Amino acid sequence: MVWSERQRAMLEVMGLRVWSAPAAAEPDVAAAAVADEAVPSAPAARPPAQADATAPMPVVNRRPMPAAQPIAAPVAAPGAVNAAGLDWPALREAVASCTACALSDSRTQTVFGTGHPQAHWMIVGEAPGEAEDLSGEPFVGRSGQLLDNMLRAIGLSRHAGDTPDPAKQVFIANTLKCRPPRNRNPLPDELARCEGFLIRQIELVRPKIILAMGSFAVQSLLRSNAPVGQLRGRVHSYQGVPLIVTYHPAYLLRQLSEKARAWDDLCLALDTVEAASATAARD
Ligand code: SF4
Repeated sequence: MVWSERQRAMLEVMGLRVWSAPAAAEPDVAAAAVADEAVPSAPAARPPAQADATAPMPVVNRRPMPAAQPIAAPVAAPGAVNAAGLDWPALREAVASCTACALSDSRTQTVFGTGHPQAHWMIVGEAPGEAEDLSGEPFVGRSGQLLDNMLRAIGLSRHAGDTPDPAKQVFIANTLKCRPPRNRNPLPDELARCEGFLIRQIELVRPKIILAMGSFAVQSLLRSNAPVGQLRGRVHSYQGVPLIVTYHPAYLLRQLSEKARAWDDLCLALDTVEAASATAARD
Protein backbone atom coordinates (compact mmCIF):
# COMPACT_ATOMS: atom_id res chain seq x y z
CA MET A 1 0.00 0.00 0.00
CA VAL A 2 1.25 3.49 -0.80
CA TRP A 3 0.35 6.03 1.85
CA SER A 4 -0.90 9.40 0.73
CA GLU A 5 0.49 12.53 2.34
CA ARG A 6 -2.73 12.89 4.29
CA GLN A 7 -2.54 9.34 5.56
CA ARG A 8 1.10 9.72 6.56
CA ALA A 9 0.40 12.94 8.40
CA MET A 10 -2.48 11.37 10.28
CA LEU A 11 -0.52 8.31 11.27
CA GLU A 12 2.43 10.31 12.49
CA VAL A 13 0.29 12.72 14.48
CA MET A 14 -1.42 9.81 16.19
CA GLY A 15 1.93 8.41 17.22
CA LEU A 16 2.00 5.53 14.74
CA ARG A 17 5.36 4.90 13.16
CA VAL A 18 5.33 5.38 9.41
CA TRP A 19 7.99 3.48 7.53
CA SER A 20 8.88 3.16 3.88
CA ALA A 21 8.37 -0.43 2.84
CA PRO A 22 10.03 -2.09 -0.14
CA ALA A 23 7.79 -2.15 -3.16
CA ALA A 24 6.86 -5.80 -2.66
CA ALA A 25 5.96 -5.41 0.99
CA GLU A 26 2.82 -3.86 2.39
CA PRO A 27 3.03 -1.78 5.55
CA ASP A 28 0.71 -2.92 8.26
CA VAL A 29 -0.80 -0.26 10.50
CA ALA A 30 -1.53 -2.64 13.32
CA ALA A 31 2.02 -3.94 13.23
CA ALA A 32 3.32 -0.41 13.31
CA ALA A 33 1.14 0.32 16.32
CA VAL A 34 2.35 -2.76 18.13
CA ALA A 35 5.90 -1.74 17.37
CA ASP A 36 5.27 1.63 18.95
CA GLU A 37 3.77 -0.02 21.98
CA ALA A 38 7.16 -1.59 22.65
CA VAL A 39 8.74 1.85 22.81
CA PRO A 40 7.16 3.36 25.91
CA SER A 41 9.52 6.32 25.86
CA ALA A 42 7.70 7.70 22.82
CA PRO A 43 4.95 9.97 24.22
CA ALA A 44 1.75 9.01 22.48
CA ALA A 45 0.05 12.35 22.88
CA ARG A 46 2.74 14.33 21.11
CA PRO A 47 3.72 14.39 17.48
CA PRO A 48 6.93 12.47 16.86
CA ALA A 49 10.13 14.40 17.27
CA GLN A 50 10.67 14.74 13.55
CA ALA A 51 7.25 16.30 13.07
CA ASP A 52 7.26 20.07 12.79
CA ALA A 53 4.46 21.38 14.99
CA THR A 54 4.44 24.62 13.04
CA ALA A 55 4.15 22.92 9.65
CA PRO A 56 1.00 23.73 7.67
CA MET A 57 -1.92 21.45 8.33
CA PRO A 58 -2.44 18.75 5.74
CA VAL A 59 -4.92 19.94 3.16
CA VAL A 60 -8.04 17.86 2.81
CA ASN A 61 -9.87 18.60 -0.41
CA ARG A 62 -13.49 18.65 0.49
CA ARG A 63 -16.42 19.46 -1.69
CA PRO A 64 -19.13 21.72 -0.23
CA MET A 65 -21.33 19.93 2.25
CA PRO A 66 -25.05 19.54 1.63
CA ALA A 67 -27.26 22.17 3.24
CA ALA A 68 -27.97 21.57 6.90
CA GLN A 69 -31.22 19.79 7.59
CA PRO A 70 -33.20 20.16 10.80
CA ILE A 71 -32.54 17.27 13.13
CA ALA A 72 -35.69 15.60 14.37
CA ALA A 73 -35.86 15.75 18.13
CA PRO A 74 -35.09 12.37 19.70
CA VAL A 75 -37.12 11.07 22.60
CA ALA A 76 -35.25 12.10 25.72
CA ALA A 77 -34.71 9.58 28.49
CA PRO A 78 -37.22 9.70 31.37
CA GLY A 79 -36.13 12.33 33.87
CA ALA A 80 -33.97 14.24 31.40
CA VAL A 81 -33.65 17.97 31.88
CA ASN A 82 -35.90 19.86 29.50
CA ALA A 83 -33.78 22.11 27.30
CA ALA A 84 -36.14 22.10 24.32
CA GLY A 85 -36.27 25.37 22.43
CA LEU A 86 -33.41 27.06 24.29
CA ASP A 87 -31.02 29.20 22.26
CA TRP A 88 -27.28 29.13 22.90
CA PRO A 89 -27.16 31.76 25.69
CA ALA A 90 -30.16 30.26 27.48
CA LEU A 91 -28.72 26.77 27.12
CA ARG A 92 -25.38 27.89 28.58
CA GLU A 93 -27.14 29.47 31.51
CA ALA A 94 -29.30 26.39 32.07
CA VAL A 95 -26.24 24.15 32.17
CA ALA A 96 -24.28 26.49 34.44
CA SER A 97 -27.08 26.61 37.00
CA CYS A 98 -28.23 22.99 36.74
CA THR A 99 -28.75 21.00 39.92
CA ALA A 100 -30.70 18.13 38.37
CA CYS A 101 -28.36 15.48 39.72
CA ALA A 102 -26.00 15.07 42.64
CA LEU A 103 -22.93 15.89 40.53
CA SER A 104 -23.79 19.55 40.99
CA ASP A 105 -22.69 19.18 44.63
CA SER A 106 -19.13 18.14 43.84
CA ARG A 107 -18.30 19.99 40.62
CA THR A 108 -16.02 23.00 40.50
CA GLN A 109 -17.88 24.23 37.43
CA THR A 110 -19.89 22.84 34.56
CA VAL A 111 -18.22 21.98 31.25
CA PHE A 112 -20.57 23.16 28.55
CA GLY A 113 -18.63 22.39 25.38
CA THR A 114 -16.59 24.35 22.91
CA GLY A 115 -16.25 25.02 19.20
CA HIS A 116 -18.02 26.64 16.30
CA PRO A 117 -21.79 26.78 16.91
CA GLN A 118 -22.44 25.62 13.35
CA ALA A 119 -19.48 23.27 13.00
CA HIS A 120 -19.92 20.51 10.46
CA TRP A 121 -18.24 18.02 12.78
CA MET A 122 -19.44 17.26 16.29
CA ILE A 123 -17.49 15.23 18.81
CA VAL A 124 -19.30 13.75 21.77
CA GLY A 125 -17.17 12.53 24.65
CA GLU A 126 -18.02 11.10 28.03
CA ALA A 127 -17.66 13.11 31.24
CA PRO A 128 -15.32 15.85 32.43
CA GLY A 129 -12.21 14.78 34.29
CA GLU A 130 -10.28 16.73 36.87
CA ALA A 131 -8.57 19.05 34.39
CA GLU A 132 -11.84 19.75 32.60
CA ASP A 133 -13.61 20.42 35.90
CA LEU A 134 -10.95 22.98 36.78
CA SER A 135 -10.71 24.65 33.37
CA GLY A 136 -14.34 24.44 32.23
CA GLU A 137 -13.15 23.12 28.84
CA PRO A 138 -13.74 19.64 27.44
CA PHE A 139 -10.84 17.45 26.35
CA VAL A 140 -7.87 19.19 27.96
CA GLY A 141 -4.66 17.59 29.18
CA ARG A 142 -2.99 14.72 27.32
CA SER A 143 -6.17 13.29 25.83
CA GLY A 144 -7.16 16.75 24.62
CA GLN A 145 -3.74 17.21 23.08
CA LEU A 146 -4.07 13.89 21.27
CA LEU A 147 -7.55 14.83 20.06
CA ASP A 148 -6.32 18.20 18.80
CA ASN A 149 -3.47 16.50 16.94
CA MET A 150 -5.86 14.02 15.37
CA LEU A 151 -8.18 16.83 14.30
CA ARG A 152 -5.31 18.88 12.92
CA ALA A 153 -4.17 15.91 10.85
CA ILE A 154 -7.44 15.98 8.94
CA GLY A 155 -7.61 19.76 8.70
CA LEU A 156 -10.06 20.35 11.54
CA SER A 157 -9.91 22.58 14.60
CA ARG A 158 -11.93 23.34 17.70
CA HIS A 159 -10.58 26.89 17.75
CA ALA A 160 -12.70 29.39 15.86
CA GLY A 161 -9.65 31.59 15.31
CA ASP A 162 -7.93 28.94 13.20
CA THR A 163 -10.43 29.21 10.38
CA PRO A 164 -13.84 30.81 9.93
CA ASP A 165 -14.98 27.90 7.75
CA PRO A 166 -17.51 25.78 9.69
CA ALA A 167 -16.65 22.82 7.43
CA LYS A 168 -13.25 22.74 9.13
CA GLN A 169 -14.52 23.27 12.62
CA VAL A 170 -15.67 20.90 15.33
CA PHE A 171 -17.96 21.40 18.28
CA ILE A 172 -16.98 19.26 21.26
CA ALA A 173 -19.41 18.30 23.98
CA ASN A 174 -19.63 15.65 26.67
CA THR A 175 -22.57 13.50 27.62
CA LEU A 176 -22.24 14.77 31.19
CA LYS A 177 -21.56 18.42 31.95
CA CYS A 178 -20.25 17.81 35.49
CA ARG A 179 -17.36 15.72 36.71
CA PRO A 180 -18.18 12.50 38.53
CA PRO A 181 -16.22 12.35 41.82
CA ARG A 182 -12.82 10.66 41.54
CA ASN A 183 -13.48 10.18 37.83
CA ARG A 184 -15.81 7.25 38.44
CA ASN A 185 -18.03 6.11 35.62
CA PRO A 186 -21.22 8.09 35.03
CA LEU A 187 -24.32 6.53 36.56
CA PRO A 188 -27.30 5.72 34.34
CA ASP A 189 -29.48 8.25 36.15
CA GLU A 190 -26.88 10.99 35.66
CA LEU A 191 -26.59 10.23 31.96
CA ALA A 192 -30.36 10.22 31.61
CA ARG A 193 -30.84 13.55 33.36
CA CYS A 194 -28.08 15.35 31.50
CA GLU A 195 -29.13 14.03 28.12
CA GLY A 196 -31.53 16.90 27.45
CA PHE A 197 -28.61 19.32 27.23
CA LEU A 198 -26.70 17.21 24.72
CA ILE A 199 -29.82 16.70 22.61
CA ARG A 200 -30.32 20.46 22.42
CA GLN A 201 -26.64 21.09 21.61
CA ILE A 202 -26.84 18.69 18.67
CA GLU A 203 -30.06 20.33 17.48
CA LEU A 204 -28.42 23.76 17.56
CA VAL A 205 -25.15 22.74 15.90
CA ARG A 206 -26.87 20.59 13.25
CA PRO A 207 -23.63 18.78 12.43
CA LYS A 208 -22.99 16.89 9.20
CA ILE A 209 -21.26 14.09 11.10
CA ILE A 210 -20.96 13.01 14.71
CA LEU A 211 -18.01 11.17 16.27
CA ALA A 212 -19.10 9.33 19.42
CA MET A 213 -15.98 8.78 21.52
CA GLY A 214 -16.20 6.12 24.19
CA SER A 215 -18.83 3.81 25.55
CA PHE A 216 -20.88 6.36 27.48
CA ALA A 217 -21.25 8.59 24.43
CA VAL A 218 -22.40 5.53 22.54
CA GLN A 219 -24.88 4.64 25.27
CA SER A 220 -26.40 8.11 25.14
CA LEU A 221 -26.56 8.53 21.38
CA LEU A 222 -27.22 5.00 20.13
CA ARG A 223 -28.98 3.53 23.17
CA SER A 224 -26.57 0.62 22.98
CA ASN A 225 -24.55 -1.12 25.66
CA ALA A 226 -22.44 -2.93 23.08
CA PRO A 227 -18.69 -2.31 23.39
CA VAL A 228 -17.08 0.31 21.18
CA GLY A 229 -15.10 -2.43 19.45
CA GLN A 230 -18.32 -4.01 18.20
CA LEU A 231 -19.91 -0.77 16.99
CA ARG A 232 -16.99 0.95 15.32
CA GLY A 233 -16.17 0.36 11.67
CA ARG A 234 -19.58 1.22 10.23
CA VAL A 235 -21.78 4.26 9.80
CA HIS A 236 -24.62 4.61 12.30
CA SER A 237 -27.29 7.28 12.31
CA TYR A 238 -28.39 9.73 14.97
CA GLN A 239 -31.63 11.35 13.90
CA GLY A 240 -30.49 11.16 10.29
CA VAL A 241 -26.96 12.44 10.98
CA PRO A 242 -24.16 9.96 10.15
CA LEU A 243 -22.49 8.82 13.36
CA ILE A 244 -19.13 7.08 13.69
CA VAL A 245 -18.20 5.23 16.87
CA THR A 246 -14.58 5.38 17.96
CA TYR A 247 -12.36 5.10 20.99
CA HIS A 248 -11.97 7.89 23.53
CA PRO A 249 -8.53 9.57 23.33
CA ALA A 250 -7.91 8.78 27.01
CA TYR A 251 -8.32 5.10 26.15
CA LEU A 252 -5.96 5.46 23.20
CA LEU A 253 -3.30 6.81 25.54
CA ARG A 254 -3.53 3.56 27.51
CA GLN A 255 -4.00 1.22 24.56
CA LEU A 256 -1.52 2.33 21.94
CA SER A 257 -2.36 -0.58 19.66
CA GLU A 258 -5.90 0.75 19.22
CA LYS A 259 -4.65 3.96 17.60
CA ALA A 260 -4.59 2.21 14.26
CA ARG A 261 -8.30 1.46 14.59
CA ALA A 262 -9.01 5.02 15.67
CA TRP A 263 -7.19 6.15 12.56
CA ASP A 264 -9.44 3.87 10.50
CA ASP A 265 -12.45 5.47 12.19
CA LEU A 266 -11.28 8.95 11.23
CA CYS A 267 -10.79 7.79 7.65
CA LEU A 268 -14.30 6.35 7.66
CA ALA A 269 -15.67 9.66 8.92
CA LEU A 270 -13.81 11.56 6.21
CA ASP A 271 -15.02 9.14 3.55
CA THR A 272 -18.59 9.51 4.82
CA VAL A 273 -18.42 13.29 4.67
CA GLU A 274 -16.90 13.25 1.20
CA ALA A 275 -19.45 10.75 -0.06
CA ALA A 276 -22.29 12.91 1.24
CA SER A 277 -20.76 15.92 -0.52
CA ALA A 278 -20.44 14.01 -3.78
CA THR A 279 -24.05 12.86 -3.56
CA ALA A 280 -25.23 16.39 -2.88
CA ALA A 281 -23.19 17.69 -5.82
CA ARG A 282 -24.84 15.16 -8.16
CA ASP A 283 -28.40 15.93 -6.99
S1 SF4 B 1 -24.32 16.40 35.24
FE1 SF4 B 1 -25.83 17.38 33.93
S2 SF4 B 1 -27.82 16.94 34.92
FE2 SF4 B 1 -26.21 16.62 36.48
S3 SF4 B 1 -26.05 18.60 37.54
FE3 SF4 B 1 -24.50 18.56 35.90
S4 SF4 B 1 -25.51 19.60 34.18
FE4 SF4 B 1 -27.15 18.99 35.62
